[in-house]
Amino acid sequence: MEEKEIYKEAINRYGYVAQTEMLLEESLELALATRKFLREPKDKRLFDLGSEIADVLIMIEQFKIISPEIEQIIIEQKEFKLKRLKKGLDKTAHPESQPPNTNKENKKN
Ligand SMILES: [Mg+2]
Repeated sequence: MEEKEIYKEAINRYGYVAQTEMLLEESLELALATRKFLREPKDKRLFDLGSEIADVLIMIEQFKIISPEIEQIIIEQKEFKLKRLKKGLDKTAHPESQPPNTNKENKKN
């Protein structure tokens, strides 16, 4: 079964409301995993963060099937927000902070 067929089967079996609620739940889990990674940026937390990102990506793909018009909104909003981000970056010469470093050579624990 191909990826898209699996998503369709899940929506048919559990219903669009349950799968949209799963998008909400997985998004919250991603938010919590992000918080935990920032608190303790080690391998286990990075794995958990990656796992939650995968969950959210899967639910986003299902939501694109549930509500296909979201795809164009995502494309347009992504383009708009990337332009806005670039504009902001162009205004500031030096970044104020760097992302947490998970590189083993620079880790304390
Ligand atoms: Mg999850």
